[in-house]
Parts: sequence; C-alpha cells; structure tokens
Amino acid sequence: MPDSIVVCGTGIAGLASALGFRKAGFNVTLIGPRIAPESNPGDNWHPRVYALSPSSKKFLSSLGVWSLMDSNRITAVDAMEVYGDTDGVINLHAWQASQPALAWIIESGEIERALHQALQVFGVNWVEEKFSELKNGSLITDSGREITFELLVGADGAKSSVRAASGIYHNQKLYGHTGVVTHLTTHLPHQNIALQWFTDKTVLALLPLSNTSQGNQMSMVWSMPDHEANELMAMPDNTRKQNLEQKLQAIAGARVGAMQVRSQVYGFPLTFEKTAMFTNKIALVGDAAHRVHPLAGQGLNLGLGDVSDLISTVSSKEPWRKAGDSRVLERYARLRAEPIFAMRAVTHGLHTLFNVGSVPAMVLRNAGMHIANRLPFLKRALITGAN
Ligand SMILES: Cc1cc2nc3c(=O)[nH]c(=O)nc-3n(C[C@H](O)[C@H](O)[C@H](O)COP(=O)(O)OP(=O)(O)OC[C@H]3O[C@@H](n4cnc5c(N)ncnc54)[C@H](O)[C@@H]3O)c2cc1C
Repeated sequence: MPDSIVVCGTGIAGLASALGFRKAGFNVTLIGPRIAPESNPGDNWHPRVYALSPSSKKFLSSLGVWSLMDSNRITAVDAMEVYGDTDGVINLHAWQASQPALAWIIESGEIERALHQALQVFGVNWVEEKFSELKNGSLITDSGREITFELLVGADGAKSSVRAASGIYHNQKLYGHTGVVTHLTTHLPHQNIALQWFTDKTVLALLPLSNTSQGNQMSMVWSMPDHEANELMAMPDNTRKQNLEQKLQAIAGARVGAMQVRSQVYGFPLTFEKTAMFTNKIALVGDAAHRVHPLAGQGLNLGLGDVSDLISTVSSKEPWRKAGDSRVLERYARLRAEPIFAMRAVTHGLHTLFNVGSVPAMVLRNAGMHIANRLPFLKRALITGAN
C-alpha cells in the first residue's frame, strides 16, 4: 500500500503537488475549495498573470500540464529592459544565456484550468472542505471529518492554517508597499519585451501579453508605497483610470506610446515571510513556506520549485522510511534553502537599494546598472539566476 499523502490548498502549488505525487504513485487526497476557472474568457484577460520561468515550464511539462494550456494565452518574453531612476539601464535577451525565452506570461486561471483537467484524468480524490485543525496526528476538516496521513503538504497560501496548527516557525515583515495590477492597451506593440522601471520608491513592470481585438496588450504590476496605493484604490473607477494612465505615461514616456487601462485594478499587500519548511510528517510549499517581493516575478516559480523538489525527495526515500519521516523532510528543506535564500537576497536587496532616497545610493545603483549592462557573464548569471 503506497503512503497516503494529503495536500491541503487548491492554489497552483497545491494542485501541482497533488498531481505530481499522484503521478509518482502515491495515494493522494487533495483538500480545499474547488473554484472552477473561467472556461472561455475570450478577449477578457484576468489581471492575475504569472511570469513562469524555464524551470517551471519544464516541471509543468513533466506533469503533462503545459500542453493542456491554450497556446494563444501564453506569451513568451524574449527580452527585458530594466531602467534605473536616473540613466541606469540593463538589457537582457534570452539568447545571451542560450534560453528559448526569459519567461512565459500566463493567466493564473489558465494554469489552474489545465491542472484541474489533469487531476480529473488521474482521478485524484478531492475533498471540497477546508482544513480546520490537527488532532492526535490526524487532520480535521471544517465539517469535522477526520483524515489520516503519512505526509501532510501545507500548500494553503500565505495565511497557512496548516503552518499555524503545526507550530512551524514563521516570521512576517510588511514591506509597507502594495502591488497594484491591471492590464493595459498600449499604442505600440511590445515585441515580446518585458519592461521594468525602478523609480524613487516604486517598481513598475509591464509584461507582454497576447494582443486582442482591442489592440496591443500588456500586464502591469506596480509596487508602490501603501499610502499611494490606498489613495489610488479609493478613487472612483474613472478617476482612478485617468490618474493611473497619467502616472504611467510620466514614467514610461514614449516607450510603448499611449496607454489605456483595460481591466479592473487590484491591489495586493506585499510581505516578506520566512518559515521553517517542515516538521514531523508536515512539509510546506509555495506561499505557505515563503513570500518574496514580486519585483522579480518569482514567487510562484519558487513555489513550483518546492513542489518539484519535495516530490523527488520523497520519491527517492529509503523504502523503510515513511513519506513524512523527519529525515526525508530535512533533505527537502536543505535542497530548498539555497534557491529561497538567493531569491530573498536579490528581491529584498533590490527593494532596499531602490527604496533609499539619498543621492549616493541613487548614483551607485544607476552606475551599477551601467556596469552590469556591459558584462556578458553577469547578464548570463542574471538570466539563469531567475530560472
Ligand atoms: C502583485 C503580485 C504579482 C506576482 N507576480 C508573480 C509572477 O509574475 N510570477 C510568480 O512566479 N509569482 C508571482 N507572484 C507570487 C504568486 O502570486 C504566489 O507566489 C502564488 O500565487 C502562490 O501560490 P500558492 O498556491 O502557494 O498559494 P495561493 O495561491 O494563495 O493558494 C492557496 C490555496 O489554499 C487554499 N486554502 C486556504 N486556506 C485553506 C484551508 N484552511 N483549507 C484548505 N485550503 C485552504 C486557498 O483557497 C487557495 O486555493 C506575485 C504576487 C503578487 C502579490
């Protein structure tokens, strides 16, 4: 009888965990709400999109999920232009690191739709209830159902109840910034180039998306201080749209021509969170295990890296050990320590460097960008480091 693995959380990290463990031959139960992604959204693109790295693409392909996604809704990022707050600039091209693309931009709903489909094909047992508590080593759902497990995977997001119930160490720091997201129609085509501006205290990213009958389309992720975001979000819809368009134009200038807000605007509070990754019989993946600043668009990529490493670690355990054996989970945590540390260091470091208003810091960061732009080996490291 294969070990029973219970995955709690039905976001992308949880769905991918359940599918991956099932495909690896484990007995899997998935717990969490089943929210059907929109099946035919046409020209309406959901504002929640992710930049998936080549490693995430490889992992989702190994699960058979990549080919289930609609190729018309996947946009390759061939290059990236990063601008500092004076004259600093870095240009990164996929070919500089022999990659097919730097990333692929995909709506969250499209990834979820493909995962739901694959889970159905593999007949994964899905309990549409919520985790409530741990009692005598079993899991209790909100309806009082008791479920036993050899390994419980906590994939229930940043406010993880599994993490809280298991007493796993967790530390949260608020950035005092909000990520504001929406989609834009741009006058000029994006040519599959992602654009990013580090301004005084904000980071603006414009990501290429498929064009629609409304025109050229880009997705905006703008991290800004909470008070600016709150002011923006409190405005009536039309005023917010105009205000946003004026501010965007002031930063992006003529780079993509005139820009119009074309979808709803959402704000996500940004936090920096650290946890221990496991305790006996319980492992955390995705946002339950870490949260990083979205300026590098790497949160979900890190989460999928967790899922991939957890499945391979548990699959290669000694036959006499159980899936939730602390020795096995310790190996998982060791494997994840370096990529998580590196991503935290880069995103937190850049956030801090560009959040300092002093003139020496401004000169230093822009000069650093000029230097980095002239060093091919550094550019290769920047591209492959984000994989
Ligand atoms: C503005 C912004 C932009 C971003 N852009 C990118 C990007 O371009 N690329 C990238 O890689 N990352 C990006 N990220 C990060 C990314 O959004 C997260 O890392 C990712 O969504 C985390 O997925 P998850 O499955 O771990 O958690 P979640 O998506 O939060 O899923 C958690 C799931 O658990 C369920 N759940 C909660 N409580 C319970 C319970 N008690 N019982 C059962 N189920 C429960 C919830 O219903 C939910 O389905 C961005 C983040 C922000 C804020």
